[in-house]
Amino acid sequence: MRRGLAAGNWKMNGTAASLGEVEVLKTAHPAPAVDILICPPATLLERLSSVASGSAIATGGQDCHPEKAGAHTGDIAAGMIADAGGSHAIVGHSERRADHHETDAIVRAKAEAALAAGLVAVICLGESLDQRESDQTLDVIGAQLAGSLPDGLTGANAVIAYEPIWAIGTGKIPTIEQITEVHDFIRAELVARFGAEGEAIRVLYGGSVKPSNAAEIFAVANVDGALVGGASLKAEDFSPIIAAL
Ligand code: 13P
Repeated sequence: MRRGLAAGNWKMNGTAASLGEVEVLKTAHPAPAVDILICPPATLLERLSSVASGSAIATGGQDCHPEKAGAHTGDIAAGMIADAGGSHAIVGHSERRADHHETDAIVRAKAEAALAAGLVAVICLGESLDQRESDQTLDVIGAQLAGSLPDGLTGANAVIAYEPIWAIGTGKIPTIEQITEVHDFIRAELVARFGAEGEAIRVLYGGSVKPSNAAEIFAVANVDGALVGGASLKAEDFSPIIAAL
């Protein structure tokens, strides 16, 4: 049985004032039945980890560089995320793939770096609206799984997040049938490649998850939680999503 995971991706949002939201979540969910993860901007990771310490809330980075250290201005190594108190690293988010031209091969190298640093890699996948409308969704997801996932993934070191690009920040979500189809496909691909561990790897849905739609999305068999953007920024929104899982 996979334990649920409610993950928040704060993207380029949040300052010291946002730490109060984590205090509220801590108090509201002292012993949650699911795992909670918050990935703030790098500037807040150490402070947020310290606020979350001793609670059920894990923290992580939103990206990491494939290399351990070196001349890469502005980048952050996976080991630095661990050093700042993080336990997870999101890699391959569609905004990184688009804004920073990240290919599947780069995403795979980043995921490998996360694993090497002892972090859980949260590996993101998803189709564009054009790809959805031209019936290429499963081909695209299949290629991203084949190209972005390193060998040796387990339920303990990896999480997959299915985030249709057209559902991110738009208020639109796929139908429950569409979510079911993609999550069932991802599960089958994970089991084909990783065997029993493929059953243990959690698969999150992401894209316009809100308190009002969380319960119906979480009712899908192969949806093990959510990667939440906008609705993870305020405890009043994220808390009911955690409770729905
Ligand atoms: P929204 O929840 O704001 O649509 O963002 C989803 C996302 O991209 C999380 O990584």
